[in-house]
Amino acid sequence: MKNRIYLNTLHDHIGEEITVAGWVDVRRDHGKLIFMDVRDMTEKVQMVALPNHVEAHELANTVRPEWVIEVTGIVNKRPEKMINEELHNGDIEIEITSIKVLNEADTPAFEISETTIGVNEEARMTNRYLDLRSERMQTNIKNRHRVMKFVRNFFDKEGFFEIETPLLTKSTPEGARDYVVPSRLEPGHFYALPQSPQQYKQLIMSSGFEKYFQFARCMRDEDTRGDRQPEFTQLDMEMSFVDRDQVMDINEKVLIALVKELYPEKTIQEIPFPRLTHKESMEKYGTDRPDLRKDKDDPNLLAFAWVTDFPFFEKTDDGSWTFTHNPFSIPKEEFIDDLLKGENIGDILTSQYDIALNGSEIGGGSIRAHKADILEKVFEILGHDKKKIKEAFGHMIDAFSSGTPPHGGIAWGFDRLMMILQNEPNIREVIAFPKTGEGKDLMMNSPAEIEDVHLKELGIQIKKN
Ligand code: ASP
Repeated sequence: MKNRIYLNTLHDHIGEEITVAGWVDVRRDHGKLIFMDVRDMTEKVQMVALPNHVEAHELANTVRPEWVIEVTGIVNKRPEKMINEELHNGDIEIEITSIKVLNEADTPAFEISETTIGVNEEARMTNRYLDLRSERMQTNIKNRHRVMKFVRNFFDKEGFFEIETPLLTKSTPEGARDYVVPSRLEPGHFYALPQSPQQYKQLIMSSGFEKYFQFARCMRDEDTRGDRQPEFTQLDMEMSFVDRDQVMDINEKVLIALVKELYPEKTIQEIPFPRLTHKESMEKYGTDRPDLRKDKDDPNLLAFAWVTDFPFFEKTDDGSWTFTHNPFSIPKEEFIDDLLKGENIGDILTSQYDIALNGSEIGGGSIRAHKADILEKVFEILGHDKKKIKEAFGHMIDAFSSGTPPHGGIAWGFDRLMMILQNEPNIREVIAFPKTGEGKDLMMNSPAEIEDVHLKELGIQIKKN
């Protein structure tokens, strides 16, 4: 559409005849005067159809909310007493000279001109494209983009490279169930979707890039909750030749900078972020993601906290050992001997650091094992025999034996961070197309059955109950 003016720039065109386009938000019929609010991706504006523009007036009578229209009209200043100070375009309105209907719309399943937070979740998810038109959802998704862009620029300036890692990969132990994808070329074999890019990012360190980051999609087949989705986004990063403090410092720096730049209305309670050991946190707050806010009613208060020195292993119900956070971590220096000897396993502390924000865990990372013997020993303690370790992690062990530098990193639960920054109650509000609590995409109707021919090609037979 040539010469189209966006609604946030109308003040540059007062007195001019211009063309705009967008959606009818609300329409108010005052007999001779027909008012409608029209919105585009930037703003809303009030428009008025007067009876002297006969054709436009007649058309204005027929349009309904969510119709898509192109309007030509004159940008007028509103009379003093009609000014609405609260709106960007509250002091102007467009006098319609002509309307072109670009598309009609069925009566929407719910009101879009208002916040949709109270609308039935099923209706919102089925009609997500309508839900996303609402102002609150538009702001959430746009701010998510702004935060991503800020973070990308920050890491780029610090000398990091964003490197994509595969989605079709192999099972990697992150503590959850894998989503799997059947292979057509090798029937009976499956890819696993990544629970995180953990192994790849370590292999990127082995590949000599030294500073990596990625906005990475991660898939975990676990029960969905308010702050959990089967598919979510991590800001994943890794660095070579660093110690724990260096990783924590650079992450702290980017978080402070982004709050300052993009959320100036928010206050960070304490800088530098307080650092607690796991033991201190458990003793003092009874949790490893403490909510340190001094005023929990203040939506603009951000209390970040680092938690460190977690136990590496814990006992499972059957008496075997499992890892608490990340099997690829290195123990704290003073426990490496014990690990290699397999002694005092329950007392070994890991180099893991988690970051909490207002009581949510928004990230976690560690310094990694970069030598083969340590990684092998960790998996031995976890109950894998040498053959299984070789099969599952041979590539890591080989890389570690081929000049892998010391390295460490972290991943942020990006959706959770956005949820808190946008003052939203759950991560579905900051993800464009989330799944329901049952892991369904109600709009696309997924997961869905697939055709028999596809199953045959994959060598898969479904057992029907
Ligand atoms: N890969 C880890 C996770 O997803 C994060 C990390 O240690 O960098 O929990």
